[in-house]
Amino acid sequence: MTRKVVIVGAGFGGLQVVQDLKGAGCEITLIDQRNHHLFQPLLYQVATTLLATSEIAWPIRRLLRNRPDVTTLLATVTGIDRERREVLLKDGGRVPYDDLVLATGATHAYFGRDDWEKDAPGLKTLEDATTIRRRLLLAFEAAELSDDPAEREAFLTFAVIGAGPTGVELAGIIADLAHRILPREFRRIDTTKARVLLIEAGPRILAAFPEKLSAHATRSLERLGVEVQTGSPVTDLGEAGVVIGDKPIPCRTVIWAAGVQASAAGTWLGVETDRAGRVMVSDRLTLPDDPHIFVLGDTAHVETDGKMVPGVAPAAKQQGKHVAAMIRADLAGKPLPGPFRYRHMGNLATIGPNSAVIDFGRFQLRGRLAWWIWGLAHIYFLIGTRSRLVVALSWLWSFLSGQNSARLITQKETLRDQ
Ligand SMILES: Cc1cc2nc3c(=O)[nH]c(=O)nc-3n(C[C@H](O)[C@H](O)[C@H](O)COP(=O)(O)OP(=O)(O)OC[C@H]3O[C@@H](n4cnc5c(N)ncnc54)[C@H](O)[C@@H]3O)c2cc1C
Repeated sequence: MTRKVVIVGAGFGGLQVVQDLKGAGCEITLIDQRNHHLFQPLLYQVATTLLATSEIAWPIRRLLRNRPDVTTLLATVTGIDRERREVLLKDGGRVPYDDLVLATGATHAYFGRDDWEKDAPGLKTLEDATTIRRRLLLAFEAAELSDDPAEREAFLTFAVIGAGPTGVELAGIIADLAHRILPREFRRIDTTKARVLLIEAGPRILAAFPEKLSAHATRSLERLGVEVQTGSPVTDLGEAGVVIGDKPIPCRTVIWAAGVQASAAGTWLGVETDRAGRVMVSDRLTLPDDPHIFVLGDTAHVETDGKMVPGVAPAAKQQGKHVAAMIRADLAGKPLPGPFRYRHMGNLATIGPNSAVIDFGRFQLRGRLAWWIWGLAHIYFLIGTRSRLVVALSWLWSFLSGQNSARLITQKETLRDQ
């Protein structure tokens, strides 16, 4: 009988498993709750009007149209019946498996304050990005309409909470939007007066980078007009703004870029997880008590050389390759590959429209050259010639014309439907 491999999640990890199982002779079912594969590293550019949604996401069916061995299901997984070896779907359906790969990623963590989400959306999906884009653009419109100076100021104050790469990238581009791109278009307000706050509870921004790069990033952000506030835990937030310590700051647009929570895979399986809900897997990326259930990417806690593998796209892809190699070897009756080993490619973050920091471990880069390397790397990893050309052209157009192309307010308010 043909071996049934069920893969849940068509993100970086899941899709890599599908790719590497080509020709392996198994029957693959790929389940995702969305119909597209998303390039999350450029999501912040959709949220800040630089790119359109279709430039960083691709219909999964189209990507796999030449793979008759793969059946794609648009469905939400809600559980696993380990005894009967079936995946449970939200609509009541069941999908049987011989091998199961869970690559369901992560979402935001609000550290016990989930009620903050409606006022401070995080950035994880296309819906999040268009929600944030809508709120940003509407804040400028509301400020233009308002005759009350205090209200105007609140509409023109933008707070980004959490200063990892995503927070830094968002703050830099929002400042650029307000200070360089929009001023000529508004008559009643001066958008250069907009305040962009980057609020970080820890002592410095980009904590995973060396201190030198973090200091450089702070200076670059400040040059762009971002107010960087470190050592500033947010104690409350709501419609009216954020509270840092006991100091309220009126602001109408707040974005959450702090904290990560793994998908519910650990709960479905009833197994041990770490504090962020990541499933503790063996060094072969399987459950310790079931060599036919693999968990990988942002939803797995994996350690190599005593260090936890970070939640980044290259790690998920490398794990996807490893899992596919394990399944292929097992199918062919060959010895299984050894433990998974992570190869770190470096940490990258952009700061505004043409500066970046890169930490390759042995050496570091910053400024415009780093931005070019960041840009080329991201274009290389996009899927297909069309996307590469369109994204490169959008960046070039924005650079030459001082205009961002994706500034339409097109939808009603929507939040993530987790
Ligand atoms: C804003 C942002 C910026 C980032 N920037 C970078 C960067 O610059 N460089 C970098 O290396 N990494 C970056 N990352 C991290 C990187 O995107 C992740 O590490 C990577 O996507 C993890 O891959 P994955 O396969 O584990 O999960 P994902 O790529 O998140 O894929 C998970 C998939 O599972 C699906 N899914 C989830 N739950 C269910 C369910 N119940 N039923 C069915 N399907 C489900 C989702 O729809 C999704 O398609 C960024 C992440 C974000 C959010």
